Amino acid sequence: MNPILIVEDEPKIAELLEKYLQNSGYETHWINDGLAVSDWMANNQPAMVLLDLMLPGKDGLEICKEIRQHSNIPVIMLTARVEEIDRLLGLELGADDYICKPFSPREVTARVKAVLRRTQPSPQADTSQQTSSPEESSRQLNLNRDHLTISLKGQNINLTRVEFELLEVLHSHPGRIYSRQQLMEHVYPDNRIVSDRTIDSHIKKLRKKINELDPEQELIHSVYSVGYKFEG
Ligand code: CA
Repeated sequence: MNPILIVEDEPKIAELLEKYLQNSGYETHWINDGLAVSDWMANNQPAMVLLDLMLPGKDGLEICKEIRQHSNIPVIMLTARVEEIDRLLGLELGADDYICKPFSPREVTARVKAVLRRTQPSPQADTSQQTSSPEESSRQLNLNRDHLTISLKGQNINLTRVEFELLEVLHSHPGRIYSRQQLMEHVYPDNRIVSDRTIDSHIKKLRKKINELDPEQELIHSVYSVGYKFEG
């Protein structure tokens, strides 16, 4: 596999990232200056970019935008402040995930693996003849907008309109983190004033319903102080 590009100006953090990822079997390439990224990218195709936000030369925001202009390479943004993630989400940079420093080795490798799994379809999934057994398809979550129902493992359950729309938007981009603000805007397009807690309470009920269909897997995950994401 191609190397994972680490763009990080703090050598200690870069070393840690390289160590974690290499221990997990990935190759890495480290760049410490924002200005050097586009030259390297012109000649190399990394499997993924781990991109620090605050960098000398050119910051992570600008680099992310530039990458998105010409490629879909997965990008994970690294930031030192969890509050920053909310702002980044609002900018819709097209980053695939966000990691807040300080991070644990396990967290970084888990996120890298999850993003690669999501963004690199397996060879079988690529073929047009995608056949899944009835057993497999019943394990997947199906949404029925007309009836506001979902089915999983052969069982149906009714949702309220708000629950359905929350699930629908999260489900449409597995792994993507949605802030409460984004979810609110989606569910209440009339800009009605509702509190963050409203979203939390709908999500809570939604999770409870999904849990009745399948107690074994958690489909809606909360991302600490940021929002929610769907991951099957
Ligand atoms: Ca930095």
